[in-house]
Amino acid sequence: MNIKKIDFFPVQSERKEPFIIATGSSNIAHNIIVKVITNDGVGIGNACPNSVTKETPETILMALKIFSDELKGENIDDIEEINTKMDSLLERNPSAKAGVDIALYDLHGKIKGMPVFEIFGKKKEKMLTDMTIGIMDLEATINHAVEYKNRGFKALKIKIGLDKVEDVKRIKATREAVGEDMIIRVDANQGYDVNTAIEILKEIEPYNIEQVEQPVKWDDLAGLKEVKDNSPIPITADESVKTKEDAFKLAQGKCADKINIKLMKCGGITKALEINKIAEENGLNTMIGCMSENRISISAGLHFALSQENVRYADLDSHFSLIDDDTKGGFIFEDGYLVPLSKAGFGIEAEE
Ligand SMILES: [Mg+2]
Repeated sequence: MNIKKIDFFPVQSERKEPFIIATGSSNIAHNIIVKVITNDGVGIGNACPNSVTKETPETILMALKIFSDELKGENIDDIEEINTKMDSLLERNPSAKAGVDIALYDLHGKIKGMPVFEIFGKKKEKMLTDMTIGIMDLEATINHAVEYKNRGFKALKIKIGLDKVEDVKRIKATREAVGEDMIIRVDANQGYDVNTAIEILKEIEPYNIEQVEQPVKWDDLAGLKEVKDNSPIPITADESVKTKEDAFKLAQGKCADKINIKLMKCGGITKALEINKIAEENGLNTMIGCMSENRISISAGLHFALSQENVRYADLDSHFSLIDDDTKGGFIFEDGYLVPLSKAGFGIEAEE
């Protein structure tokens, strides 16, 4: 079965409130919806611009134009082969590639009449997701934490990395506000130097923190290892791992305890599977994370996670913060968990 056409169109969603992290802030989420069209059906994917891979809506549209021209007529049976072709056309642009890769898996599921997680073999029924609290003042942090607890979330990810003293206060106050049962993980988004990171991790240890993401700059693997070796809390690499080569280097150097995999960082499900395999072989559990994504690629991340024993954590929460997101379906949120719909492909309905 061959690709007849690849369509793509940008969509914008306003966020419910500005999202601030150590590396910047944003008010609007951009996504580019991708449709791979064949005579036997249409697969839907999504590409999300982000600062980690330095992709913008413009670079994604340019890359997708090239893929739509060059992949026409291509046989869809071998998704790995199509990924190899995309890599030969453009070296980087992982989010644009993820858009096509996700659409191809959706199409495979629809053609087989099964959810995508069944293609790989389902390992789990549902994934617990955290809800992220951006950098905000103490009172707003507590209000958000309590609101999310009341909505059923059982895990929170608190963004830190701009002000060490404030960060410790916010984490302490959040733990006191939500009680001991809530899972709390934190993410510094590269905001600290090595010494500050080690200091703050020792200070927040009493508040029962599950893991700390990316305390130092993405390219400072030696620094990341130094933090890990001196930290009482497990360290997760996020911005440091975009490719399987990054994952291998990180694992060999024992620079972190876990890896946060994002479909937009690595180029889609095909490459996420490769990174997860390397992580698993080296004893590192993984998290499935997200950018400012809509329900299409959040569903893709969910199906990937459900099919892999080693994906232990999920941070699949961006869709909760979007206003006017026209993508529907895929999964439901129930008691802290994302539960997939048992529909073919990713079970998404996207309105044009
Ligand atoms: Mg992160």
